[in-house]
Amino acid sequence: MAFAPPHLALIGAYAAAGAFGAVLPDIDSRRSWVGRKVRIMSDVIEHVAGHRRLFHSLAGMAGLVALVYILLRIYHPAYLILLVPFLVGYLSHLVLDTVAGGVPWLYPLVKKRVGLTLKTDGAIERWLLRPILVVVMLFTAYHALAPIVGHTISTLFS
Ligand SMILES: [Zn+2]
Repeated sequence: MAFAPPHLALIGAYAAAGAFGAVLPDIDSRRSWVGRKVRIMSDVIEHVAGHRRLFHSLAGMAGLVALVYILLRIYHPAYLILLVPFLVGYLSHLVLDTVAGGVPWLYPLVKKRVGLTLKTDGAIERWLLRPILVVVMLFTAYHALAPIVGHTISTLFS
């Protein structure tokens, strides 16, 4: 949303593309939210590629971004601008997984996971990080939507 042009439909599309990019890496786990949605595909990917390997690396991200680019270019070239929020969402997943167990950023060249092993869903996350993230999201949404809402209100009263 922070990168979206000030247009309501674009802000929604950017948010959706970012969310899609943010959940896609976990398609390599049948137990993940996205893995349960496409269980058969996720089973195959987890069996062949493994969880937190290719799909949690720069090479996997580049491959999926290239695939999305090709599909958009063929079927919906006008939506190519959504590649940026998709990439930001994907990258944010890798960064957050880096602090929650580590990811193999340079897989398959370097198979070792790099990162921290911070406990997830603990008291600090629930009572400190989540409220901070909600405030940041609301702040971002406000700044993305304020020009549109302000323009709409001024149009109504002019
Ligand atoms: Zn993940």
